[in-house]
Amino acid sequence: MFFKQFSALSLAVLSLSLFGCSQRLAADQEIVDRAKLIHKEALTLDTHVDIPDVGYATEAFDPGIDHPKLKCDLVKMSRGGMDGVFLAAYVRQTKRDAEGYKNAYESVIGKLKAIHRLTEKMYPERCEFATSPDDVERISRNGKKAIMTGIENGFAIGKDLSNVEKFYKLGVRYITLSHNGHNDICDSCNRREQLGDKETEHNGLSKFGEKVVGEMNRLGIMVDVSHISVESFYDVIKVSKAPVIASHSGCRALAEHPRNLYDEQLKALVKNGGVIQIVAYGGFLKLDLPRRSKAISDLKKKLDDGRIQVEQFQERMKEVDTKYPPANLSDFVDHIDHAVKVAGIGHVGIGSDFDGGGGIPGFNDHSEALNVTIELVRRGYSEEDITKIWGANLLRVWREVEKAAVSERF
Ligand SMILES: [Zn+2]
Repeated sequence: MFFKQFSALSLAVLSLSLFGCSQRLAADQEIVDRAKLIHKEALTLDTHVDIPDVGYATEAFDPGIDHPKLKCDLVKMSRGGMDGVFLAAYVRQTKRDAEGYKNAYESVIGKLKAIHRLTEKMYPERCEFATSPDDVERISRNGKKAIMTGIENGFAIGKDLSNVEKFYKLGVRYITLSHNGHNDICDSCNRREQLGDKETEHNGLSKFGEKVVGEMNRLGIMVDVSHISVESFYDVIKVSKAPVIASHSGCRALAEHPRNLYDEQLKALVKNGGVIQIVAYGGFLKLDLPRRSKAISDLKKKLDDGRIQVEQFQERMKEVDTKYPPANLSDFVDHIDHAVKVAGIGHVGIGSDFDGGGGIPGFNDHSEALNVTIELVRRGYSEEDITKIWGANLLRVWREVEKAAVSERF
């Protein structure tokens, strides 16, 4: 009797748990199906992808193939349902002397040429250069990838304000005012001691920086506040006549890293009408990463010295993974969640930083972009919300920047 009762009970439990399991699987499938539909309909834009310093859009780095060294190429964009991307012409901060300015300018021009080579010479049938939100929408409707460009580090402007218009004419639609290291425009959030940077140089935006922002406003180039110091950020907000963007930053409330924005900054961004594009760079999303890399390099050293064997290394790596798990898709979406909570759904977007250090398990290149939408659906975001995050917010800001530029000129 007892046995019979027991088996009946266990059968009931078993079938119940099986039922629960299949129910959960069905729910998961429903989420994925819904996400696929939303992802297909939404205009999906990424505001920050780097390109290699040399050889981009040549045989060495051909963005037309599924390139093993690129996290963003036309194949991965198609596979992940990405509609457009800002390829950044990044320039490293170096000494501010005649040679430094010349090299910075030339390096940016070289990268801009490479981006135009991609769209105009190499793959005009698969992608097109976009210089306006209308362009982006039209190109996407025609089934091509929209390629935009921004400059990462206003150092490329040097001290010559007329360069801003030169860059505009080459299609540049945002400029990140600084990178790591102060420049003539403003203080960076990461000074470069090797270059003699003090804690602060301008205590925010310089007089020249104000002119640069004014010129960008006049032309219709978005001002990018990622990488700049907190003081610089508030100065920009004060002087900019148009909304600004943070093209690739996270939330400082979740990870106390200087590259991330404080809640107060997010609120100021809302007043300004701007947008924060959440970065997929593990080191900004989760702060135990430095400790994680130290633990791994210590282990590697031990392996190299012969103090531990491969099996022990693998065992100990599992411990490191448990102790300091790397940032993942969920951490990334936590930053989106937080920014939405503080700034509202109308002021948050995505800027992966792929090919510049960005990429996390689950969203490690553009072919995995759908995973972000799945996670957003799972967390209860509506189709309208997700469309805003993936691109509508950025296009709204861009249109306002265009409008402010026109009213500036006439
Ligand atoms: Zn950057």
